[in-house]
Amino acid sequence: MKTVIRNGRVAMGDRLVDADLLLVDGRVAAVGGTGPADRELDASGCYVLPGFMDFHTHVDDRIGRHYLADTYATATRTAVENGITTLCTFVTQGPGGTLRSAMAEARAKAAGRSYADVLWHLTPTTFSGADLASLEVLVAAGYRTLKLYTTYKPAGLYASYEVLETLFRRLGPKGATFLVHCEDDALIAAVDRAGLDLSRASSHPRMRPEAAEIEAVRRVADLAAATGAPAHVVHVSTVGAARLIAEARSRADLTCETCPQYLVLDEGWLARPDGHRWLCSPPLRGDREAFRALARDGVFDMVATDHCPFRPEDKDAWDGSDIRQVPNGLAGLGALPHITWKIWEDDPDRSALGLAAHLAAHPARRAGVAHRKGALLPGLDGDVVVLDPSGPERPVRSADVPTPEAFPRETTRLRFRHVLLRGVPVVQDGALLDPGAPAGLPLQPDPETLPQS
Ligand SMILES: [Zn+2]
Repeated sequence: MKTVIRNGRVAMGDRLVDADLLLVDGRVAAVGGTGPADRELDASGCYVLPGFMDFHTHVDDRIGRHYLADTYATATRTAVENGITTLCTFVTQGPGGTLRSAMAEARAKAAGRSYADVLWHLTPTTFSGADLASLEVLVAAGYRTLKLYTTYKPAGLYASYEVLETLFRRLGPKGATFLVHCEDDALIAAVDRAGLDLSRASSHPRMRPEAAEIEAVRRVADLAAATGAPAHVVHVSTVGAARLIAEARSRADLTCETCPQYLVLDEGWLARPDGHRWLCSPPLRGDREAFRALARDGVFDMVATDHCPFRPEDKDAWDGSDIRQVPNGLAGLGALPHITWKIWEDDPDRSALGLAAHLAAHPARRAGVAHRKGALLPGLDGDVVVLDPSGPERPVRSADVPTPEAFPRETTRLRFRHVLLRGVPVVQDGALLDPGAPAGLPLQPDPETLPQS
């Protein structure tokens, strides 16, 4: 089966070329000189980009006491309708359980229901010798990204810096990359709450101060440098942490992401009467101008959403006395390309290349799937976005399930004329072509087929 995408501006690494793109049997075959084909798609006036990846989402899972609103079906539908052909999400080892049983559950939920390909990051919560041996097998089998938390003791997620170092030293050389939630737990515990009004969402940035993120990033950067292990800081929210990461790159294999909310929302949203709906961790911060300037300069390797679609009734079910009752997290999946585009809004070519780098090439490399995803190179999966930058203006929509809209003031003109998954058109003009045919596949092997250790 040959498909040609004609007359678009194709993102090839760091440049755009006016050319046709040829896909053969689900893979990228050639740029230019394409000849006749079985299927022809028109991309005039459009950018032709590699399929996007959201590196950080939470779906079809329980977070604390609450079950998220998005299933694999609804989340991956929102994803592909916004050009996201690979959804990265998390599998967390449950209390008393194993990662393998949690993974079997997640795979069963996703199987036959996903419209995008799915890649899982693993969140281990116990760290015995047997746990590490089991992780070694999973890493070797393609589960290359491990998530660790420097906070959240009550949720059973916390790992000390000593545990981080043990994992970095043991599993780094085996091919693992460490995704770290950086907020120093001791600095958060040391905050004097006496002067804080816990009934106000606007107190949240002082309960989880900038210094806590910066300190944890400093420790993780030092550990990455000392051990040589690849580390990735998730959801960077502060200028201080971003600068620290930029500086540490010369001595450590260190990357980072920020999220749409830290680019366009400031802590002013927390002062609204419904400000609790914008509670997330790390919290929204002050002035965003300098932060956006860092994004324009490319300090963040990628933009990812930390999509966490709590139901409105769960977000609102607190008695008004203590914001710690409110689940922390915002939806963002459907907003990802639209808000990332705005980083370079005055320069559409740069925005298009920005999406190709920050939503495709860089996350694919960090996820360990650059041999299949993230670029329009011959042999790679034919995941393609045909993006019209000048559609009619409309509101951004973070999710298609009931969840508070995190970006009610944001609009977009981006229109997804075509989205292809492994060579097959799955979306036209922003809408799924065949809801009865979820074609997404898991990118990693079934753990049932792997040896125990
Ligand atoms: Zn997260």
